[in-house]
Amino acid sequence: MHAKAAVAPARAPAQRSLTVSGDPVVDLREAIRGKLGIVLGVTPETARPRDWFVATALALRDRIAETGLSKATQIPHKRVYYLSLEFLIGRLMSDALNNLGLTETVREALNELGIDLDAVQEAEPDAALGNGGLGRLAACFMESMASLSIPAIGYGIRYDHGLFRQSFKDGWQQEAPETWLAEGNPWEFARREATYKIGFGGGVTMSASGDGIARRWQPAETVLAVAHDVPVVGWRGKQVNRLRLWKAESEAPVDLARFNGGDHVGAVSERMRAEAISRVLYPSDASAEGQELRLRQEYFFTSASLQDLVARHRNERGDLRSLPDHAAIQLNDTHPAIAVPELMRILTDDHGLSWEDAWHVTTNTLHYTNHTLLPEALETWPVELMERLLPRHMQIIYLINWMHLEEQGKSGKGDAAHLASVSLIDESHGRRVRMGHLAFHGARRVNGVSALHTDLMRSTVFSDLHALDSDKIVNKTNGITFRRWLHTANPGLTKLAVEAVGEGVLDNPELLTGLDKFAQDASFVARYRAVRRERKEALTAIVADRTGIDLDPDALFDVQVKRIHEYKRQLLNVIETVALYQAIKAEPHRNWTPRVKIFGGKAAPSYVQAKLIIKLAADVARAVNDDPEVAGRLKVVFLPNYSVSLAEAIIPAADLSEQISTAGLEASGTGNMKFALNGALTVGTLDGANIEIRDHVGADNIFIFGLDAAGVIARKAVPGYARAAIEASPRLAAALDMIASGRFSPEEPGRFRPLTDDLRHRDPYLLTADFDDYWRTQRAIDAAWRDSTTWWAKAIHNTARMAWFSSDRSMREYADEIWRVRLD
Ligand SMILES: *Cc1c(COP(=O)(O)O)cnc(C)c1O
Repeated sequence: MHAKAAVAPARAPAQRSLTVSGDPVVDLREAIRGKLGIVLGVTPETARPRDWFVATALALRDRIAETGLSKATQIPHKRVYYLSLEFLIGRLMSDALNNLGLTETVREALNELGIDLDAVQEAEPDAALGNGGLGRLAACFMESMASLSIPAIGYGIRYDHGLFRQSFKDGWQQEAPETWLAEGNPWEFARREATYKIGFGGGVTMSASGDGIARRWQPAETVLAVAHDVPVVGWRGKQVNRLRLWKAESEAPVDLARFNGGDHVGAVSERMRAEAISRVLYPSDASAEGQELRLRQEYFFTSASLQDLVARHRNERGDLRSLPDHAAIQLNDTHPAIAVPELMRILTDDHGLSWEDAWHVTTNTLHYTNHTLLPEALETWPVELMERLLPRHMQIIYLINWMHLEEQGKSGKGDAAHLASVSLIDESHGRRVRMGHLAFHGARRVNGVSALHTDLMRSTVFSDLHALDSDKIVNKTNGITFRRWLHTANPGLTKLAVEAVGEGVLDNPELLTGLDKFAQDASFVARYRAVRRERKEALTAIVADRTGIDLDPDALFDVQVKRIHEYKRQLLNVIETVALYQAIKAEPHRNWTPRVKIFGGKAAPSYVQAKLIIKLAADVARAVNDDPEVAGRLKVVFLPNYSVSLAEAIIPAADLSEQISTAGLEASGTGNMKFALNGALTVGTLDGANIEIRDHVGADNIFIFGLDAAGVIARKAVPGYARAAIEASPRLAAALDMIASGRFSPEEPGRFRPLTDDLRHRDPYLLTADFDDYWRTQRAIDAAWRDSTTWWAKAIHNTARMAWFSSDRSMREYADEIWRVRLD
């Protein structure tokens, strides 16, 4: 292997076996010691935890490379290419150790060097190249594809700065840059030989060619995309796939003419402009970013990825017309939707295919996953910007659209309203390209991510396009990888499951159903409870460390962790907290179920309302936690900097999982799956995958409340619904009054009026409509908690019945029904 990593300048000149002594512990110990001394140049005495992490990662990487290389000579029949602007990976060491089966070996090897593996793992920064669910899904899918031995390459951007670091100042969210690459990334291989030119701007020239006209894009600006590969190790180390992340570089690092002319800043400005593309992840979740830099990012990584896979196909197979037989490309949301005209451009302009052949190849290779129907999240780009930045692509889009609309006319659907609805160009708000329509039209299959979401795609945003081709939309309910979200996040529960139903459960999660019969088994229940108790104690220590708040591990841990968004309704949970606070104060001597409300999640830095909701949660937490009258019954915590690593600590410690979005608005959710698998009971609406979770765990083992998606639509049609709901609910009115009065913000009494006024007058997310049922359900949960036999039986049924939500199941479905790749 000739590639070198940023942190690994010195490498052994030739491949040789990594088995030296025959004792795996000794071999790894010596490998780690060697990396520390030879690669990092530090001694065991002076090494920091970070150095130990890098040395261990490099030693593991050698072993991963060895596994990967043994397969590298075989050309698979068909590869999957997963294009995603986000991969929310988290730490990689626990994945690698677990999947290679080396956790205990490395623990011993480090022990012999006087080092604790847990401390080494803590020194790894999270790779937070994503915002939330969409990026985490991509990471779970990559791991599952490797575990199922699906030949796959993930393509994304190697952001210098991932999702911002969140802290609180007086309860207000503060953002700081995230710096995961500051000391290099020991997992990655820089692949300078895989470098592609990415053009922007300029114009299109025409020349006579045969009996037609050849068009050629002459970009004004060129940026280099340089590949950096991160290995993705599958379960039991059987397959190693790659996540190929593109770094933007300038062709000319310094403009010497300008430099010599004394313009030292100007001499590097082109370089700065180029490198800006992979500088930072956009921190918005579920809303479209209209900035030009965002479009540059989207085109940059899409073009590099397509050029790379086209080059690979030409090398291996020659004729590009066979691309659909050997490649399936999945577009994760519309962020890479520019792939439709870009693949057409590469095939026609660069490789001379006819338009018809190119369109056949494109529409049989591309597939598109839709992640949201929220209007603010549906990407559109102004035609004017596209013409300036990507003039050739805009021509191609016009031509695709012209043919598409012609066809409508021919089949008698040429009326203006229909054409306006299916057109790739939206003419109603200035002229804008609809990226969802573009991806839909260019894809062979389009999928939603839960049964409800897919139905809503068919009946709302894509209804007219769906009517043209009713086979195109399919459902593929999301999943999570159990290796991370059960095996490594909750080793105690995993051990218990293995003891109860056998080792096979590690390979086949369906065996978890064997736990059902232990739901009433006193000794099993005691052990299940002990596992939870241990995770709650560990979380209690983290909470004390990060917030200074002491929790009682005997209390019900009620958790809502996810991005802060109005549709996810953290505000409903906070208002219920206020109402509970009032109720406890009114009747302090009642037998209240002790509860800890735990919140976590980041708000987009520009999302004013979401940041105000965080501040309200913080102000309520301060008032509640300082009030001796509710002590021992209610505590409220907002844990800063929610991340994959923090999720791994929080989720196994949760008793109750809050999945309370307005019905019809959460496409799937995957947090809901992680909690239920770990045995938290869900309080949730009939939204996204909650519905399918209910179907699997059983209606008796989940707490469902509120309006369903049809009820939401009906209620929104009633004028003044919010005011009416508040008038009908004295409890809700009192909680809102307390918030509006400034009781939680005496230093600024009107602080939360924007929240309460909005609820009284608009309430687009129907908090007021669902409040009473939510309150009632929470009190039923209080009662259920006190009946511990029943509670723990429900919890065990949840763990036992969640196997279907493994992302292995999702990936098998994609493989069979979308990609048509063979699984052996
Ligand atoms: C799973 C996960 C999410 C998605 O959570 P939802 O509740 O489905 O929105 C977001 N962030 C992190 C860190 C996660 O692990």
